[in-house]
Amino acid sequence: MNVLDSDIQYLPGVGPKRAALLKNELGADTFSDLIRIYPFRYIDRSSITRIADIRPDLAYVQVMARITKVVLYGPNSSVHDQSQPLRWPAVKRMSVMVADASGEMEMVFFKGIKWNYEKLRPGSVFIFFGKPSTFGDRINIVHPEVDPAPQNGQPNTISGTLTGVYNSTEKLKNSGITGKVMNKMMAAALGQCLPFIEETLPEYILRDRGLVPLRYALQNIHFPESQDALAKASYRLKFEELFFLQLSLLKQKYIRSRGEKGIPMPKVGKDFNDCFNALPYDLTGAQKRVIKEIRSDMMSGSQMNRLLQGDVGSGKTMVAVLSALIAVGNGCQACIMAPTEVLSQQHFANISKYLRPTGVQCALLTGSTGAAERRRIHTGLEDGSIQIIIGTHALIEDDVRFHRLGLAVIDEQHRFGVDQRSKLWAKNGDGVPPHVLVMTATPIPRTLAMTLYGDLDVSVIDEMPPGRKPVETMQIGQNHRLQLYSFMKKEISKGRQVFVVYPLIFESEKMDLKNLEQGYEEIVQAFPFPPYKVAIVHGQQTNEVKNFNMDAFAAGRANILVSTTVIEVGVDVPNASVMVIESAERFGLSQLHQLRGRVGRGSEKSYCILVKDNKISKESQKRLDLLCATEDGFELAEEDMKMRGPGDLEGTQQSGLPITLNIASIARDGVLLGEARRFAEAVLEKDPFLEDPMNGLLVKELRKDKYNIKDYSKIS
Ligand code: ADP
Ligand code: MG
Repeated sequence: MNVLDSDIQYLPGVGPKRAALLKNELGADTFSDLIRIYPFRYIDRSSITRIADIRPDLAYVQVMARITKVVLYGPNSSVHDQSQPLRWPAVKRMSVMVADASGEMEMVFFKGIKWNYEKLRPGSVFIFFGKPSTFGDRINIVHPEVDPAPQNGQPNTISGTLTGVYNSTEKLKNSGITGKVMNKMMAAALGQCLPFIEETLPEYILRDRGLVPLRYALQNIHFPESQDALAKASYRLKFEELFFLQLSLLKQKYIRSRGEKGIPMPKVGKDFNDCFNALPYDLTGAQKRVIKEIRSDMMSGSQMNRLLQGDVGSGKTMVAVLSALIAVGNGCQACIMAPTEVLSQQHFANISKYLRPTGVQCALLTGSTGAAERRRIHTGLEDGSIQIIIGTHALIEDDVRFHRLGLAVIDEQHRFGVDQRSKLWAKNGDGVPPHVLVMTATPIPRTLAMTLYGDLDVSVIDEMPPGRKPVETMQIGQNHRLQLYSFMKKEISKGRQVFVVYPLIFESEKMDLKNLEQGYEEIVQAFPFPPYKVAIVHGQQTNEVKNFNMDAFAAGRANILVSTTVIEVGVDVPNASVMVIESAERFGLSQLHQLRGRVGRGSEKSYCILVKDNKISKESQKRLDLLCATEDGFELAEEDMKMRGPGDLEGTQQSGLPITLNIASIARDGVLLGEARRFAEAVLEKDPFLEDPMNGLLVKELRKDKYNIKDYSKIS
């Protein structure tokens, strides 16, 4: 058997008990698993700190000092009586006083006392390494690592100057797998494995990118010879990881675009032109560009799989309509799927207007569509007389069958699960999948999009329709509520409308509702009828009540809409110019941005007012500050990702990253990710199926389980 695949328990110093822990806690089953766990930081042990310079806030220090006194303490801090024989179990603590030329300090041991007592003889010099802490007014180090002082008086260089620190867990620490033990295990594993480690990147890539060989990289990521060696090792390993990730994603895209047949749509068609010519406005440059991209996909004969990103209000609906009309113009049907009933209705209302000049037949299908209408729609979809269907999940139910579905548009894609989306693929009897356009208003940082949707084509609407005024964003404390109300009154007197949004705060929906209803009561008192009218919308209402209240606000019959985040996506009320967000500190950055996007849609100056608690965390404050500083959704998403990491980014939790990255970070290594992707593209451009023997190593690496992410290519 291969050394690399040896069970971790056979590594010297491990054994079955530790092996079980390493497997459970770190997922390391074999020798080679272990050496692919890299330090998350390094301690520079080349420098010695003078005792007099030690402050409790220093991270780690290393002192070289002579032991002056050792005292053993029994229970309740009783000092061990030297005249009595030592009974080890009774010893609870050992205090070791040490001194260098600058001062004196204490090292404390609660564990391993016997062993250290024998080693730490007064008068001898050691190097102590650890994190200083304070005890009363004294500074000490608890459980320092202890190394003998070097003979020549120089710092210990045996273990190199940089020592790796590995992620650990409580369980690991408690069972004696300390940093030092971890380093020893790594050294043992590397010693055994390195001779058998094979290069994963072809020679020409190493040369071209100036990368160090894999063996060198692994050795130096664990035990760096120098800062420079560490940098080279880290660069090589990060590049490799990102490159293979992109290569695996892009390879699928290449294969699909050559293999997967799509419905060819050579024409634009009369309906497209009729709609286009009747538009009340000119398309923005970005809308035109994106429509061109979509059109050329739909013409190509291969299946389109395109992600359309565009900030709230950037005009994605129009793009969806024109794309649907291309399908119609080629004798096919189109469906537009939205995540909620309210959004579907709004889409239906807007889109019907756009379609009026064309005579294209359009219908709405949701959960609350009545039986008779539902039957009519089912028949119309099957015989092809309904050309565009708009709706919710109801569209993907099994009894919905199409005459010929040419395009599926999915709005706000992150609200649909992978399974639901893939159901759309099977809607055509002949097995030829419809073209798919996924639209999202959650700006995903470019780097993350490349990874999450690495095998999709991405279009971005990066330009807002003209005439949109910036939304003035400000933060106020709870104590400014009266000023807030008088400001709202002033805006209402000008004929504007106001959103007031409450977060989901409590675990239970009932509690959230209570919170919302209290807020509603307060607003109703401050804005009594007549003249004011306040509507309320939340998730617990029946669709009927919800729609009634929503409509009242949309039609201008209510001045204020109090709601939970149900209005987050899509809802379009151009006359609403004020967005008040209660307990704003509880929202994520992207969500705040989405909410703000509900205003600023009309020609009036708009405001977003963040009401925050008097005491909020630094993190929350930073989010609110950022939101006030910029309206660029991509910039905010980028910042959000830096603050919280890509895994927690709103809109991406469901999908997650396709593979776990060991060393590279999507948030921090964006530039390298771009390089890796371009390089992977270049490789595939020359050799799409990786058939050239020169790329043999790449094929071998891609066969590994972790790159088996085929499901991802079917996300839509
Ligand atoms: P979103 O991208 O958030 O779905 P919408 O498609 O709802 O945005 O568009 C937001 C608003 O902008 C709508 O009222 C729409 O009529 C308007 N709009 C879209 N495109 C343009 C344009 N090119 N010029 C002016 N207004 C536009
Ligand atoms: Mg929209």
